[in-house]
Amino acid sequence: MEPWQKLLQTSITRPGGLTRRFGVDPQPLEAVADRYPMRVNQYYLSLIRQVGDPIWRQAVPDLEELYDSVCTADPLEEENQSPIPNLVHRYPDRVLFLVSAECAMYCRFCTRKRKVGGENMAITSESIAAGIAYIRSHPEVRDVILSGGDPLLLGDERLEGILRDLRAIPTVEIIRIGTRVPVVLPQRITPNLVRMLRKYHPLYINTHFNHPDEITDTAAKACARLADAGIPLGNQTVLMRGVNNDPLVMKRLMQKLLAIRVKPYYIYQADLVQGTDHFRTTVEEGIEIMRGLRGHTSGMGVPAYVIDAPGGGGKIPVLPDYLQSLGDEVVLKNYRGETCRYQNQLRLEEPDQLAVANEKI
Ligand SMILES: *Cc1c(COP(=O)(O)O)cnc(C)c1O
Ligand code: SF4
Repeated sequence: MEPWQKLLQTSITRPGGLTRRFGVDPQPLEAVADRYPMRVNQYYLSLIRQVGDPIWRQAVPDLEELYDSVCTADPLEEENQSPIPNLVHRYPDRVLFLVSAECAMYCRFCTRKRKVGGENMAITSESIAAGIAYIRSHPEVRDVILSGGDPLLLGDERLEGILRDLRAIPTVEIIRIGTRVPVVLPQRITPNLVRMLRKYHPLYINTHFNHPDEITDTAAKACARLADAGIPLGNQTVLMRGVNNDPLVMKRLMQKLLAIRVKPYYIYQADLVQGTDHFRTTVEEGIEIMRGLRGHTSGMGVPAYVIDAPGGGGKIPVLPDYLQSLGDEVVLKNYRGETCRYQNQLRLEEPDQLAVANEKI
């Protein structure tokens, strides 16, 4: 058994497993773990500095999960936009293909909390074959995003089978893998896995760091292995109360991501997912956090802040109001709050003068 498999196998899956180390009363949390699965391994647990901190909040069941009267199970209407089970075709040229029902950790904020880790998420060799057949018969699909669950929890051979089948479809240009493994189980990024992945370029990986404390030496090493294999790495962060809803924490996260060769891609406004209401912040807070990034740190480290529209409308960017007015002159506000102007009107008049000038040359 490989070290990552051992770590996974010895994960804590009931709140009682936290008692000895953290001294919390597990009894009230049992009902939460009955409703939404719990899984956290010793590596991720070791990042917790104190009960209730940002790492804890992401990993440990919270009673609030049961008292959410605002949110719904599938606010993005993924099921409605699935022509076949476990494949979401929302946009014209790309699909989200769910190939694993399992994750290394069951994040408390998960957008697919309704099904990941549960019995009602049936990923089988048949469902995967059906997804591949769908992609083959839809040549407009040029970008396939493998997700789940976590695709990197599949064994190397199972995952390679999927990648090989996808690469055999000439209309598939790029493949992306969405995974939280580099964050919650970086030991899974083995030399063998990376040797396999690099055969299926152009392959992109988007990972999911939410807090600077998640960027450890072990996580950095995992990302370095992937980057050294020529895999461009992006990051999607969810904006969450008590985790990263602080401009300085978010700035530090973006800077540390760049330092491990991961390019910040998206910051998501939290979805209205049942059982996650306690993580939500206002959009005003998100805009302030974005204002704290642009200009204040490397532009490379400024992702797009998006709301994934309820009802399945897709990701919509939200920007601080840098644009003050748009006309013959564009009035802008910079990161220091200073007003700047740009001459917008184009000078296409006076062709005669241009002709005269040309003749002289
Ligand atoms: C997020 C998402 C995508 C990918 O969107 P990009 O903006 O291209 O990264 C594709 N399909 C679905 C259903 C998604 O939720
Ligand atoms: S790894 Fe992703 S899919 Fe799995 S529980 Fe966490 S957020 Fe959800």
